[in-house]
Amino acid sequence: MRMILVGPPGAGKGTQAARLLERYGIPHISTGDMLRAAVKEGTELGKQADACMKRGDLVPDEVVIGLVQERIAKPDAQKGFMLDGFPRTLPQAQALQTALDESGVDLDAVVLIEVPDQLIVDRITGRRSDPETGAIYHLKFNPPPADVADRLVQRKDDTEEACVARLEKYHSQTAPIVPFYEKRGVLTRVDGVGTPDEVTARLVDAIG
Ligand code: AMP
Repeated sequence: MRMILVGPPGAGKGTQAARLLERYGIPHISTGDMLRAAVKEGTELGKQADACMKRGDLVPDEVVIGLVQERIAKPDAQKGFMLDGFPRTLPQAQALQTALDESGVDLDAVVLIEVPDQLIVDRITGRRSDPETGAIYHLKFNPPPADVADRLVQRKDDTEEACVARLEKYHSQTAPIVPFYEKRGVLTRVDGVGTPDEVTARLVDAIG
């Protein structure tokens, strides 16, 4: 199963990907997680990405395309993968399609998780993650257990200012990939409003 989760920032892509992994037995490939790891390690790529990410801007296409091409060529991704946060621009979608065509494989599903803009800022500014387990919580909608609450961290780009910038980028740069996949007949839309359990049930239904 080769699939992509698309949606605005805060749509629940990371949360849902983590829940779907076991069911489908494929690796979760999040370009956001890969870039954050590079920033933490202080690599050249991390330094380049850090400023873009803090502003809520996209990292240049050639950087993320290279990262993903390398990652999907690894042995664990040969049977499939779940891409989260990539592609985010039309050139990224086209580069991925070329790489898949060259390997003689294709996407099974592209799932668009739809959440209205007015819910996004609340979802993002209340988001916290556990650096030890990677679990994602929300202070109001998915409160963390008391014993982990003290160690939770907030992403640097989960401020209101960066969130507004990321939402703008989503509409101007990422939304054009929706008709690209619609034309290819692989796009499914899923309502992302509701509890994480409700959205997981809809996704499983849509993916089959
Ligand atoms: P995410 O964790 O998916 O919300 O990504 C966090 C940030 O990483 C984004 O706001 C971008 O700055 C950067 N990023 C992640 N994936 C991509 C991508 N496919 N193209 C460009 N920038 C990306």
